[in-house]
This record gives sequence, structure tokens and C-alpha cells, in this order.
Amino acid sequence: MTDKRDKLETAVVSAGRMSAAHFGSVNTPVYRTSTILQPDVASLKSHNTTYVYGRRGTPTTRSFEDAVSALEGAARTVSLPSGLSAITVAIMSVCRAGDHLLMVDSCYGPTRLFCDGVLKRFGVETTYYDPLIGDGVAALFRPNTRAVYCESPGSLTFEVQDVPVIAAAAHARNASVLMDNTWGTPLYFPALARGVDLSIHAATKYICGHSDTMMGTVSANESHAKRLSNFVADLGLYASGDDCFLALRGLRTLAVRLKRHHQTALTLTHWLLKRPEVSRVLYPALESDPGHALWKRDFLGACGLFGVVLKPAREKSVAAMIDGMRHFGIGYSWGGYESLIIPAEFERTACKFEAEGPVIRIHAGLEDPDDLLADLEAGFTRLNAP
Ligand SMILES: *Cc1c(COP(=O)(O)O)cnc(C)c1O
Repeated sequence: MTDKRDKLETAVVSAGRMSAAHFGSVNTPVYRTSTILQPDVASLKSHNTTYVYGRRGTPTTRSFEDAVSALEGAARTVSLPSGLSAITVAIMSVCRAGDHLLMVDSCYGPTRLFCDGVLKRFGVETTYYDPLIGDGVAALFRPNTRAVYCESPGSLTFEVQDVPVIAAAAHARNASVLMDNTWGTPLYFPALARGVDLSIHAATKYICGHSDTMMGTVSANESHAKRLSNFVADLGLYASGDDCFLALRGLRTLAVRLKRHHQTALTLTHWLLKRPEVSRVLYPALESDPGHALWKRDFLGACGLFGVVLKPAREKSVAAMIDGMRHFGIGYSWGGYESLIIPAEFERTACKFEAEGPVIRIHAGLEDPDDLLADLEAGFTRLNAP
């Protein structure tokens, strides 16, 4: 359905479409199935048929996966039941007992818990590295280093990594490069073109986009595709047809939604920078952000998620600020259509993140930006109350 000449915004609309196989229906319907009947014993035994058993994929899962592959420029995408399961599957698909993993210190919290728990128990050792390490990563490789894992910008603190430089260092030593690409989305960070072997998305966020589905994806280049799909098959993992249908439906409007999220985040962050209560805004799309030059070089846009470092303030005042919001909801996740705000808590073991005061994380949703600004303004009044 897509070809390489299509721009991403065209591909996002048409990739993975299978109308001819579905009586002209634009959207691939939800297949709820376990058994897929075969015409004869020879077909059953040949293993050549596209669809053999529900767990191994249906037209609904395939439509969604093919669409993500087209956007990522990947040989194969697998869909998984959550973003975290996509992360753990990607890591386990490349590592075996006795291996060493280099993990960015600013990774998503549960990724760290997985490395320090399950992965350690299965005999893989993790070393955390500074997200701003650049080519300094070369010094951390050991003979048994199997993979380098990136997440850019970093969870909660938004450091931009030099992914091409890190990838080159890894490939020179035969190590794989994995990346949590959730912030960049398949539209704003072309991970595989930047040297990543396995690009991971918490599709729960912008791909689904409506705060109604948990999903993850891993997209692999040619050299990692077979290992990845075999591993998922061996573990028996499966994302349901209903969830893949919703994810594909969300994906179709990703380009227009992201433009608005980006624009509103710029409006809010420019306003926040001028507030006396704010020390720093952590958003690579801002010229004042230390990661701006790298962001400009490697990304094609920015989403609506950013951090704010406040000047020193009491925990109670920050809670009062957040508790009274009209439009910003208090809750985990992000990438839906609605605005969110939470206090940020994070762990570092390889480097320090020096914050002048409390850090909050904001997701700029699709509401009118004026209403969001008014909400934040009232929030600062509560923050400043004696
Ligand atoms: C939310 C999130 C995940 C995990 O996704 P789930 O679908 O909640 O499991 C992974 N990485 C990042 C950066 C996230 O924000």
C-alpha cells in the first residue's frame, strides 16, 4: 500500500491497509480468532500460509504491524500487550546468560526495575551510563557487551542522546542498539535510520492516542527481525485484535495530533520560562534547552511532553498547585488527547540530575492553549499561597 516515495504523513494514512481482502472496507476489521481453518492436511503441515493460528497473528495484528514497519522503515514489527512488555521482549531477544548490557541512566523507571531484577536473575549484568556520554560510551564496552539501550529524550529529565554516535560505537563492537522511541514516535525520530536495530514504542501513548488501550511495539531491521519474531512466538505473546484495531485507528491521526501537541507545548513552555516560580523547562524543542542542537539535527518534531524544574518550593505547595487544576488530570501515562500533570520522581545511579527545586511533568493535550495557560496561572497562585 505504501511505497518509499510517499511522505510519512501519507504513509501514516495508508500503510497496512488491506481493503481488497475485506470487501473494500477501509479499515481492517477486528479478527477475534483462535483456530484458522486450513483447506487440507498439506496446507496445515506446510507452515507456508500467512495465517496459521490466532496467537501467531491475524489480519488485524498484521495491518497494524505493517503500518508501523512502514513508518519505522523496519523489516518487521511485533505488537505486544504493553509498552513495558515491548521493552522486556526487545532486551531478552538479544541477550543471553553471561551477557552485559549498557543501559541509559535516564531510562523509564520500570525498565530499570526489570534490569535490576529479572534480567540479573537470568544472568545478564547491567551497567548504567550517563545519557550525555556521547562517544565516551566506547570506554564502557566489555568483551561480553551484547547491547546498548538508549532512551531519548530521557524519561522525566529529557536529556537528548547522541544516538548515531552511540550506535556507531556499539556496531564497531558487534553490539546491538535498542531504543525506547516513545517520545519521538514513529513520525518524529527515524530510529532505524539513526543506527538503532530495535525501535521500541509504548504504543499506549501517542500511537493509540486516546487513553483507552495498552500496547507496545518493537520494530526490527533486517538483521534483528527473525530473532525478534521467533522470540515473541516462543514466549507465546499476543496483542489482541481489539487492541490492534484501536492502535491502528489511533495511528491514522498521529500526524495531525502531534502537530497540535507540539504547538501547544511550545506555547506553554515559552510562557513557563517567563514565570518567576520556574527555574528551567526541560523540552528539547526550546532553544534554551541544552539538547536543542542534537534535537534539531536528529528529530523531525517534538511531542507534547515536557518537564518543569521549579524554584525551591514546599512539597505541600506543589501538591496544592497540582490538586486544583481544572484541565490537567493527575495520572500516569501520556500521549492521549488530554492534558496531564504529575510531580516527577526519578532515580540515578551513574550520574546526577541536579534540580534546583521540585520537578513536575506536564503533558500538553489537545485543549485550547488559552484554557491551559489560565489553569497553570491559577496553579501558580496556589503554589505561592502562604
Ligand atoms: C509509559 C512508558 C512505557 C511503558 O508503556 P506501558 O504501555 O505503560 O507499559 C515505556 N517507556 C516510556 C518512555 C513510557 O513513557
